[in-house]
Amino acid sequence: MKNFVTSKKDPKIKVSSILTEYLLPNKVYLTVSKEDQLLIKNKKINKGASLYEHKNKIVYSPISGNITKIVKRIDYKGEEKTYLEILNDFKEEDLYVGSEGTTTIMVHDVKKLLEKNKIIQSFHLENKKILLLNTIEDEPYVANNYFLFKNHKDEILLFLDTLASIYQITNIKIAVKEQESEIIEILEQVLETYPNIELQILPDIFLLQNDFFLKKYLKLKEEAYLFYPDEILELYYDIVKMRKKDFIYITLTGDAIKNPQVVKVKKGTELKELLSLIKIEEEYDIIVNHLLHHKKRSLDKIILSEEISVIYFMKKETKERKPCIHCGKCNFICPISCKPYQSVITNGKYKNKDCLSCGLCTFICPSNIDMESYLKKEE
Ligand code: SF4
Ligand code: SF4
Repeated sequence: MKNFVTSKKDPKIKVSSILTEYLLPNKVYLTVSKEDQLLIKNKKINKGASLYEHKNKIVYSPISGNITKIVKRIDYKGEEKTYLEILNDFKEEDLYVGSEGTTTIMVHDVKKLLEKNKIIQSFHLENKKILLLNTIEDEPYVANNYFLFKNHKDEILLFLDTLASIYQITNIKIAVKEQESEIIEILEQVLETYPNIELQILPDIFLLQNDFFLKKYLKLKEEAYLFYPDEILELYYDIVKMRKKDFIYITLTGDAIKNPQVVKVKKGTELKELLSLIKIEEEYDIIVNHLLHHKKRSLDKIILSEEISVIYFMKKETKERKPCIHCGKCNFICPISCKPYQSVITNGKYKNKDCLSCGLCTFICPSNIDMESYLKKEE
């Protein structure tokens, strides 16, 4: 990695300390493709019904209701996707064996469940020496992991510890940025119960959320396996609770929003449904996930999924695009030397497949050139 960049917070954008639940959407939309074989015969389905296999994973319904239609949409990345639309009947009838409340389970029982579970075997944890939980958020306004730990720290830590014990991994680390004092506080209290888990407190360096950079920064190689907290919680739900984790945490913030908040929402909910929760008094643009990208998205196109961690509602501003002044700043800032300047001057003919879409080059460009349109331009 060429150079490390620290992120600077915009004081006009607030970090939320409020959590709102929105777990009864009117409809949900789940990605489906032509190759997926439907596993159900009826249109009427229960919560937790296995619907089809998509990219080697079974897709479960997060609500009870009726399958209404297949729709095509351009998603938030600008890609055409096909979705299965399910209309909520609000009966919440489910097929789960496990209960919704707290699950009390002995560690040796978890071990037995893990040993016969195929999902966990697919992680290939044999021969690993370090388990690293990556809690880092590069965007400084995102508070999803704070609420995830506030509400699920016991499940996450128990599961991490049990995984390590089954695979005889003695070194467990949790990577957290020094700015995340609230997460550190939550973890420090509970880590007394887990003396084998160590906090790895890191400086505020941009891109450490990315596994590749985090490993590089910590000088870790193949001996380490990285998990995200949400991934561990999902496994806990699958294996211990015997229910599907059908919710996600998403931050809604930006300088146009009066009441920024984190929303616990059902996977597949349309962003439009959440507008009743927020107060916006100005005309706004929507930016998904990375503020540095400045890429505006349309409200109608946003279906909330695990791929989305934050939605920014930003006051409308018109940044005029000017010609490239050949300053070279974009090349200089790129952390992996992708040469975005070459992409601009060749009108997108030069591409570097390693580009991380981190947005730093767009952010730094004094001519307001949207690099992504060149870096990802079709031939
Ligand atoms: S978006 Fe790609 S080219 Fe631009 S700085 Fe990031 S990695 Fe480099
Ligand atoms: S930062 Fe912008 S203006 Fe400067 S070389 Fe790159 S594309 Fe051109």
